[in-house]
Amino acid sequence: MTDTLPPGLAALPPLREVIARHGLSAKKAFGQNFLFDANLLDKIARVPGVLAGERVYEVGPGPGGLTRALLRTGARVTAVEMDSRCLPALAELAEAAEGRLSVIEGDAMRIDEPAVLGGPAHIVANLPYNVGTALLIRWLTADPWTPWWRSLSLMFQKEVAERIVAAPNTDAYGRLAVLAQWRARPRIALSLPPRAFIPPPKVDSAVVHIVPAEAPADVPVSAVERVTAAAFGQRRKMLRASLKALPRGLEALAASGIDGARRAETLSIDEFVTLARCWTPLS
Ligand code: SAM
Repeated sequence: MTDTLPPGLAALPPLREVIARHGLSAKKAFGQNFLFDANLLDKIARVPGVLAGERVYEVGPGPGGLTRALLRTGARVTAVEMDSRCLPALAELAEAAEGRLSVIEGDAMRIDEPAVLGGPAHIVANLPYNVGTALLIRWLTADPWTPWWRSLSLMFQKEVAERIVAAPNTDAYGRLAVLAQWRARPRIALSLPPRAFIPPPKVDSAVVHIVPAEAPADVPVSAVERVTAAAFGQRRKMLRASLKALPRGLEALAASGIDGARRAETLSIDEFVTLARCWTPLS
């Protein structure tokens, strides 16, 4: 955390008081489970690494608990929130942040991030799980690669976090693992019990940290998606059966040299990329 907190940030009233004053009871329709513990929020804000002077894009700031922690690191934050009830509280925070926080009212699914942000950013978010997964897929399937974001630090239901980082030959290994790992490096950075949130969700949560990596430029993301969707569509079947669901899937399998008696969950990420590379000219 920076030693030089602007006086406005240092003098902020407690989050609970802000929530009470603005009547921000958590709403199910917005998937709202708020975080209050400043130590925990500081830990989450440290997941991306040193953020002082960096640009951060926060999705779903709600009443601003995580936003405060991000500002304490010295980052410049652009936050997008769709619940208009939160905007007055966020406006107070923006004033205290002395130019380091700008808030956009809107749906993160519809934001043209590079245009809004004006440069590479770290993405940090505690989002409703369904929105988080949809955005993750959007950010991972960006073309061209390397993407405009420097890192993703995202809260997920723990079970989804485990699917993102899963290794081959495990039940959790599937489309999400292949998509996340063929051109990025994901890791589980923090686990959180339900009691960390108000109201508590039914399941454990985890923050996943993902950094983009070098990726083969000759394999389109759509090919990786199609091949993995077909292979895992019937994950208990041998590839020579499951890949029938993909036009020319069996030709790609033959060209790849991968044994058709294997099942999808035994293939490494590199083997999926090879399969996608062989399928691309046939598709
Ligand atoms: N970041 C706060 C925290 O950690 O306490 C709030 C987390 S709450 C789980 C998720 C927030 O995301 C809510 O404030 C909700 O209104 C907002 N949200 C949900 N869907 C959104 C979307 N599509 N675009 C922008 N914000 C969204």
